[in-house]
Amino acid sequence: MLDRVNRNIEYLRVSITDRCNLRCVYCMPELGVPGLSHEAILRYEEILRVVRAAAKKGIRKVRLTGGEPLVRRDVVSLIREIAAIPGIDDLSLTTNGILLGKMAEGLYGAGLRRINISLDSLDPQRFRELTRGGELGAVLEGIRRAEETGFSPIKINVVAIKGINDSEICEFARLTLLKPYHVRFIEFMPVGGIATWDDGRIITADKIMEKISALGELIPVEDGGRGGPKTKAGGPAKLYRLPGAKGILGFISALSNHFCGSCNRLRLTADGKLRPCLFSETEIDVKTPLRTGCDDAELSRLISLAISVKPEGHSIASGIKDKYRRSMSKIGG
Ligand code: SAM
Ligand code: SF4
Repeated sequence: MLDRVNRNIEYLRVSITDRCNLRCVYCMPELGVPGLSHEAILRYEEILRVVRAAAKKGIRKVRLTGGEPLVRRDVVSLIREIAAIPGIDDLSLTTNGILLGKMAEGLYGAGLRRINISLDSLDPQRFRELTRGGELGAVLEGIRRAEETGFSPIKINVVAIKGINDSEICEFARLTLLKPYHVRFIEFMPVGGIATWDDGRIITADKIMEKISALGELIPVEDGGRGGPKTKAGGPAKLYRLPGAKGILGFISALSNHFCGSCNRLRLTADGKLRPCLFSETEIDVKTPLRTGCDDAELSRLISLAISVKPEGHSIASGIKDKYRRSMSKIGG
C-alpha cells in the first residue's frame, strides 16, 4: 500500500485498550484519563476484521499496544487469532511488563515472539515515582520470564527525561554488555497535554549517545535482527553496539530528527479510529461502519482513505504541541 508520497504502509499499531495498571508521569495525569466505556472500545472480532482487511491490502506487521495491552481480558486469544491471519508475518506487543511474569508463557504459546518492554528507571524508588506506584521487581521478573520463555529480541524502551532518569542512561546501556537485549532510548515527546512536562525535559538522541560514548566507541549496526528496526530500511531507530556487547543500543529521535520520510505506520485506536499519524489529529472512524454492517469492500476503502490522508510530515518539534491532545495511552504509543 503506497501513500501519496510513495511510502509503503505495511505496519499497523493496534491499541487494544486505553486502560493501564500504571500512571506514568509523562503519559497520564495522576488520576488517569477518563476511561472509555466498554461499548466505546472495539471488540476483538472488530479488531480482527480490521486487521484481516489491512493484511489483504499489504499490512504485514502488527503491534499491539495501549494503554497496557496485558490488562485487557483474554488478550492471549486475540494474539492467537492475529498470528494466524495470512500475510501477518510479524506480530509484536509493547508492555510495561508488570503482568509479563505471569503471562509470558501464554503469550508465547499463542504465537507472539517479539516484545517491547517499557522501563525508565532501574532504581525501585524512582521507578515507583515515575510510574506512580509501579513495582520495579515485577517488571524485572517479567523480563526474566520473557527471556527464559524464548522471546527474541527483547527490546527495552527507555524514555529519557532530563532531571529524572538521565543519570541512569549509562546503566541502561551497560545492560547490553551481558544480555542480548535491544535497549532503545526514546526522546520524550510532549504529547497529551501532560501539565508537568515541558520542552526543557527533552534530551536529544545525540546527547544520549554522547553520554554513552563514555562507555566505549558506539559501533553502527546495520540490522537489528529479524523484523527489528533497520538503519537503512526505514525503521526509526539508529542502531549501535558497544565493543564486545551482546545486545544492541537504539536511538529513536522522533523530535530532533524525525523519520516521517520513511514512516510506514498506520494506527488503530482503542475506540476504533484509524489514525495515519501519531502527531496529527486526523482520524477515520471504522467503529461506526463496523457496527452498522459495513462489508469488507467498505472497510478496505476506509483503510485506503486513511492512508491517502497520511501527512507527509509533522511539526511537533516546532512548538505547536498544544494541538496534540490525546495522550499516548489514548492513541496507542
Ligand atoms: N503501556 C505500554 C507501555 O508502557 O509499554 C504500552 C503503551 S505506552 C503508551 C507505549 C510507549 O509510549 C511506552 O514505551 C511509553 O514509554 C511511550 N510513551 C508514553 N508517553 C510518552 C511520551 N510523552 N514521550 C515519549 N514516549 C512516551
Ligand atoms: Fe501506562 Fe504505558 Fe502510559 Fe505508562 S506509558 S501510563 S504503562 S500506557
